[in-house]
Amino acid sequence: MRDSAEKGARARLKPGMKHGGSPCCMELEGGIRNRGLRMTLPRQLVAQVLEAAEGYLSAEEIYSIIREEYPAIGLATVYRTLVLLDEMGIVNRYNFGEGRARYIVTEDQTAEHHHQLVCERCYKVIKYSDFIEDERELYRKVESVLSVKHGFKINRHIVQFHGICPDCRKKEKQENENESSSGDI
Ligand SMILES: [Zn+2]
Ligand SMILES: [Zn+2]
Repeated sequence: MRDSAEKGARARLKPGMKHGGSPCCMELEGGIRNRGLRMTLPRQLVAQVLEAAEGYLSAEEIYSIIREEYPAIGLATVYRTLVLLDEMGIVNRYNFGEGRARYIVTEDQTAEHHHQLVCERCYKVIKYSDFIEDERELYRKVESVLSVKHGFKINRHIVQFHGICPDCRKKEKQENENESSSGDI
């Protein structure tokens, strides 16, 4: 069922998107240059794909998107680029236990709240900031208890809820229905 990942978190290089020209990846590209790295085509393309993605992508997925328009760029180059961007803190690497790493653009580290819902089927990430009052209150309490208990001054937090997104739940339901109806025959 893992091939739903091919669609869900998948981003595309837009046909008209000239590398270096799209505003969406300016920030990431700026990050690469600020760290004294040379902007190469593979770095630009990997940055573009990750910026446009709705969630975590594997090296293979990034490669297959880039290959559609830039077939000369190999998987090994994509791997090397990701290792570099990870070392530079430009992307975040996460292991969901499927035997390969997935990558996402690093969040603004100065923000006070990072709240996300992560789908474990398609690796889509839903970031939300429309907190309900109960949630604010809960985290305020948790932070104050933790800071007393550990003598730790908490500046910010990252909250990730892992589960199954509405699209994948719908798919799962349909698959279950298909299975049970074919079982009747
Ligand atoms: Zn928060
Ligand atoms: Zn999903």
